[in-house]
Amino acid sequence: MIDRPYQMCTRCVMDTSAPDISFDQHGVCNYCTDFLENSGHILHEDPAAKRVRLDTFVAKVKASGKGKPYDCVVGVSGGVDSSWVLVKAVELGLRPLPVHMDNGWNSELAQNNIANLVKGLGLDLYTHVIDWNEYRGLMQAFFDADVVDIELLYDNAMKAVNFQQAASFGVKFILSGSNKTSEGLVMPRSWHAFKFDKKNIKSISKRFGNVKIVTFPAIGAFDRVYFELIHRVTWSSILDLLEYNKYEAMKILTEKFSYKPYPYKHYESIFTRFYQGFILPRKFGIDKRRVHFSALIISGQLTRDAAIADLSKLPYQDEQALQEDIDFFLKKMKWSRTDLENYLTRPRKEHEEYGSEERVYQILKNIYFSVFHY
Ligand SMILES: [Zn+2]
Repeated sequence: MIDRPYQMCTRCVMDTSAPDISFDQHGVCNYCTDFLENSGHILHEDPAAKRVRLDTFVAKVKASGKGKPYDCVVGVSGGVDSSWVLVKAVELGLRPLPVHMDNGWNSELAQNNIANLVKGLGLDLYTHVIDWNEYRGLMQAFFDADVVDIELLYDNAMKAVNFQQAASFGVKFILSGSNKTSEGLVMPRSWHAFKFDKKNIKSISKRFGNVKIVTFPAIGAFDRVYFELIHRVTWSSILDLLEYNKYEAMKILTEKFSYKPYPYKHYESIFTRFYQGFILPRKFGIDKRRVHFSALIISGQLTRDAAIADLSKLPYQDEQALQEDIDFFLKKMKWSRTDLENYLTRPRKEHEEYGSEERVYQILKNIYFSVFHY
């Protein structure tokens, strides 16, 4: 990588830790510029027009669910975005099945948040529990491989479980918590992996862990096409059809459903917290808060000054909280402190070095779009 002088965008807080960032003559970066170009219409859409799009969508989901126990699936992590989707879905008269995946790292706070929410809304809950020894073996293989996206394991399995549950009940819609206002800013390509990469997961686990995949519900490019074309299941970002303000949502969740907030986005899992707050910055020089904060700045929910002040602090409440997570992580992974130090000093390797099906997926997607969408 070429060494370049440090620079931070003058409008958001993205900086040269994203290797492919570029700046215009005013010091404004391509990330927030692209975000405004691609999503500006969603951030500033006329509320009446948005309402019409929402009503049309809701009517479609209801019609597709006639005679079935549920009309949509909602993946819940315990975070604000997915919790809010569930609340709004019920309010709009939909009949969601909340789906949760337990990989052994959920914080007690997240478990309580989900339990309170599901009970308060009077819903069923499907929880998929992954065998911990198997999951730990997969994680160990990913650590040994020195790849950046350890969370590929959780994200991939979560997508698989959502698709499987939808298909098993004949449900056509999966409502996701992803949304433009708080996460529409594109994550730099080198900060994460392709999330439907079953081949990558299998080859890394075979090469380093020799882990037998039994309960881990991996999903690949062909599986996705199978669910989308044969079962006609689609993912929808319903929050983009609503006036979504993360802070207001959190307030209502707290008041009505005894929801307890987390200090940062995606901190509902102890591993995610440790990964984003410690592993990514220390081993990979990546602070994902930059992307989350930048999206909130551009959508007018956070000031740039407040974001900069927050970024100068540790992504943990204090040093003690970080030490507790380090101890918890070492114990759970059966690592010594030396194991952790060795891991942190080893250089990064790319996911693609171990085989990937991203290219296959791109080809399938191009065929799909040329045949079905045009
Ligand atoms: Zn920017």
